[in-house]
Amino acid sequence: LARLRDRLSKSNTTLGRGLLTLLSRETLDEQTWEEIEDLLIMADIGVDPTTEIVDALRERVRVLGTRDPQALTELLREEMVRAVDPTMDRTLAVDPIDGSPRVVLVVGVNGSGKTTTVGKIARVLVAQDRSVLLGAADTFRAAAAEQLSTWGSRVGVETVRKEEGADPASVAFSAVERGIAEDLDVVMIDTAGRLQNKKGLMDELGKVKRVAARPLGDDREIDEVLLVLDATTGQNGLQQAKVFSEAVNITGIVLTKLDGTAKGGIVVAVQRTLGVPVKLIGLGEGADDLAPFDAHEFVDAIVD
Ligand code: GDP
Repeated sequence: LARLRDRLSKSNTTLGRGLLTLLSRETLDEQTWEEIEDLLIMADIGVDPTTEIVDALRERVRVLGTRDPQALTELLREEMVRAVDPTMDRTLAVDPIDGSPRVVLVVGVNGSGKTTTVGKIARVLVAQDRSVLLGAADTFRAAAAEQLSTWGSRVGVETVRKEEGADPASVAFSAVERGIAEDLDVVMIDTAGRLQNKKGLMDELGKVKRVAARPLGDDREIDEVLLVLDATTGQNGLQQAKVFSEAVNITGIVLTKLDGTAKGGIVVAVQRTLGVPVKLIGLGEGADDLAPFDAHEFVDAIVD
C-alpha cells in the first residue's frame, strides 16, 4: 500500500487533496459542490458516478448535519469505494486445473502496455512457481515478437513465435498445444492491437480466441481475456475499450500507466462501461510495477 501510495502520490492524490480542501470549507454551498463535481469529472470518473457520489454526500450531510471535515472525508471514502465496487471478483483465472494449462489472452491497442503487462504477469507467476509459456500472436511487426521474447528471457520463460506475417491464430494454437504437451500451468498470448481497421481487428481477435481454445477440447474456453488499457488516454481509451469488448468477451481489465496520470477515476468509468472488473494496475515500466487492484487500497491511496 505504501508503494501504491507513493506511485500514485504525484498524480492521483492531487484529486484527494483537492476534495479534502473543498470539504473542509466553512460553508458547503452550491458552488463548493460544483467544484467537487468538477474535480471528480476531471479525474475521469464519468458523469453518472460523479453525480451519484456528490448526491450521496450532499444527502448525508443534510441528514446528519455534519460539518466535521474528518467525518466528511470518511463519507467521501465510503462513496468512492462504493463507486469502485469492492464486490467485483478480481481474481485472475490462473490457478492450476487438471490436464491442461490455463490460457490468458491479452488484447488492447498498440502502445497500451500489453507486452510489458504480459512480462510483468509472467514474472509474478514464475515467482509463484508456476510454469509459463508466452505466445507472440502479434505477427505484424517483427519487433513485437522480439520484445515479447526479450521479456520472456528476462523472467525466465519461453516464447512461441513464428515468422512475420504468419497467421496470429496459428501462433496461439501452437502455444496452447505446446502448453498441453509440456504440462505447463499458464499460457499467455500477446496479440496485435491495430485499430485502423475495426472489422479486421474484431475478426482477427475472435478467430485467435476460438482457435487458441481448440487444443483444450470441446467444453473449454479461454480462461481469461484481459484488456490492457492506458489510463492516460481517458475518454478516448474508453471508446477503444468498447471496440475490443465487442470483438471478444473481456473478463478483466489491466489499467496501465496509473503512475503518470491524475485520471485514476477512469477505473470507475471503464468498469461501468464494460461491466468488467479492473483486476490489475500498472504503476511503472519495470518488471515489478504491477499490482492487484483492490478497491479499498486504491481509494485509501487517493483519499489519505
Ligand atoms: P504494447 O504495444 O501494447 O505491447 O505496449 P508496450 O508493452 O510496448 O508498452 C508501451 C510503452 O508503455 C512502453 O514504453 C512501456 O514501458 C510503457 N508502459 C507499459 N506499462 C506501463 C506502466 O504501467 N507505467 C508506465 N509509466 N509505462 C508503462
